[in-house]
Amino acid sequence: MPALSDVIQALDALWPPERAEQWDAVGLVCGDPSAEVNRVLIAVDPVPAVAAEAVAFDADLLLTHHPLYLRGTTTVAADTFKGRVVHTLIKNDIALHVAHTNADRADPGVSDALAGALGLRVVGPLVPDPDDPEGRRGLGRVCELPEALSLAAFAQHTAASLPATAQGVRAGGDPDMMVRTVAVCGGSGDSLFDRVRAAGVDAYVTADLRHHPASEAREHSPLGLVDAAHWATEWPWCEQAAAQLDAVSERHGWELRTKVSRTVTDPWTAHASSGLHHDYEYSGAPN
Ligand SMILES: [Zn+2]
Repeated sequence: MPALSDVIQALDALWPPERAEQWDAVGLVCGDPSAEVNRVLIAVDPVPAVAAEAVAFDADLLLTHHPLYLRGTTTVAADTFKGRVVHTLIKNDIALHVAHTNADRADPGVSDALAGALGLRVVGPLVPDPDDPEGRRGLGRVCELPEALSLAAFAQHTAASLPATAQGVRAGGDPDMMVRTVAVCGGSGDSLFDRVRAAGVDAYVTADLRHHPASEAREHSPLGLVDAAHWATEWPWCEQAAAQLDAVSERHGWELRTKVSRTVTDPWTAHASSGLHHDYEYSGAPN
């Protein structure tokens, strides 16, 4: 069995920590680098339900996309949920390792996994990493659909291709507009609208789209918006990461057992659709 330090070396080769954003907090959160690792649980969020799942799986390592602590803390007392997570993990000899914006920018990265889940062909990064001579790393991806779909059909396809969440998928734009090219960005993507416009794509798939950026993007040009749950857009990365870690394990003869968490940790748990009411007029949508 490999030591945690060996596994971390492999994780850092997949998602080099120095490529994370300055404000980010990636890497080992808790765990003894000399401990042996056999079972690895991979999840989006290091929340108590996922820590409990790691205990039930008898995991030695929990790999998550989101950091547990993004800013400094002065306590890991168990009377906070984050401290409780730290206690649960340490008591059960489970290490926690985070690959966040370093996984977003990687090749393959979070948005490649999202594109893969949607069956899209990746053309290149939406925001290329200037340090990558091959031009494959970076934030978001520009993609092509195997065949053109209406925005309504593409939104439906997106909802059916991602894990089910209460939010489902929202779409903005003329439901009959044809979509051949899309930009995708796993996680919150409304800071990238300038890049999306510059890419000249028909639609943009991301999460957490807020009113003003979305409204301005739609008024600027006829861009179709497809907004899924943040967790759902990043969950495909867990499966991609598991496949990558399995390949590393096989190469080293480690016999790691990896598992992808299917616990839905999106904070939204119910959805009440108001539908489209006929006594209102919807801009961009036929009545
Ligand atoms: Zn995220």
